[in-house]
This record gives sequence, C-alpha cells and structure tokens, in this order.
Amino acid sequence: MSIKDTGSDHFKHMQEALEMATRHAEFLAIDEALKDQDSNNDVISECDLYVTVEPCVMCASALRQLRIRRVFFGCANDRFGGCGSVLWINQGPGPDPEYKCYPGFYREEAIMLLRKFYVQENEKAPVPHTKKVRELKYNIETMSYKHYVQSLEEFIQVYGKENKEIYINS
Ligand SMILES: [Zn+2]
Repeated sequence: MSIKDTGSDHFKHMQEALEMATRHAEFLAIDEALKDQDSNNDVISECDLYVTVEPCVMCASALRQLRIRRVFFGCANDRFGGCGSVLWINQGPGPDPEYKCYPGFYREEAIMLLRKFYVQENEKAPVPHTKKVRELKYNIETMSYKHYVQSLEEFIQVYGKENKEIYINS
C-alpha cells in the first residue's frame, strides 16, 4: 500500500500516523541492526534486545519473524504486551521459532519514566484538557516473575542465584 502525497493535510496526517505506528523502539533498533547488513536478516538471530517496556503485540510478532534471540524488558505492557502480559506472541505454535522474554530489569525506573511521560499535558490534543491535574503516583505494584519465567532454574540462570527470593515470593 502506498499513499501518494496529494499535498492535503489529511493525507499528510495519515502518512504520519502510519509512520508513527511502526516507529516503536523495537523497529528503530531493528533498522539500526540491519543498516549495514545488505538486507541480511540473519544477524537478528544473534541479537538480544533490551527495551524499557515489554514489546507490543506488533513488535513481538516482528521480532519472532526476524528470529530475535532473547528480549529483556523493564516493565510489563499491560494493555498491548505481546510477551505474556496480554498475548503470548513470543512463544506457542507458529511458523517461526519461539524466543525467551525476561521482565523486570530496572522495572521501577521504567514504570516511573512512563508515568512521568503520561502526566505531561499533551499539547497536540485536539480537545483542550479539562483542568484535571494528573498526579504522579509513586507506588510500584509487585509483578509475578513466575508468569513470565517458567522455572526457578531458568530464573537463576538469567537473574542470578542471589535474586532467587524475588522469584519465589512473586
Ligand atoms: Zn511495538
């Protein structure tokens, strides 16, 4: 599908929206990794991805198709997460190999980063905000590592033996 630039604002905005939809951090990282590879996607299978938020379902699928090795993320994506929070795109039946996904790296920092971003006023919002002040919350709810990591052995391999209580108590 291609959209020709007709010069109208409508098409310009549509084009921008389409670009934004695929301009997730994962896609930027993939573009960067493939930049000097002469469109050889094999390099991705030797890559681990480190990302602030769990990949969304779209990115999780792209990563699987490109055969990413592993993904490490900060906080879960409760609304769109494709690595266990909403759907399991990284594992389960499919034509492409599964990949492992590990949550919780700098999780508090990731959560606070997102909260700080979302309490800002959106200046581009079409309808002015009601003067409701958005409050920055500081409480961090616990996360179940058992939901994402299948066994204590696997958890220890990735997070270290000294952290095993985190798994056991989650
Ligand atoms: Zn995404």
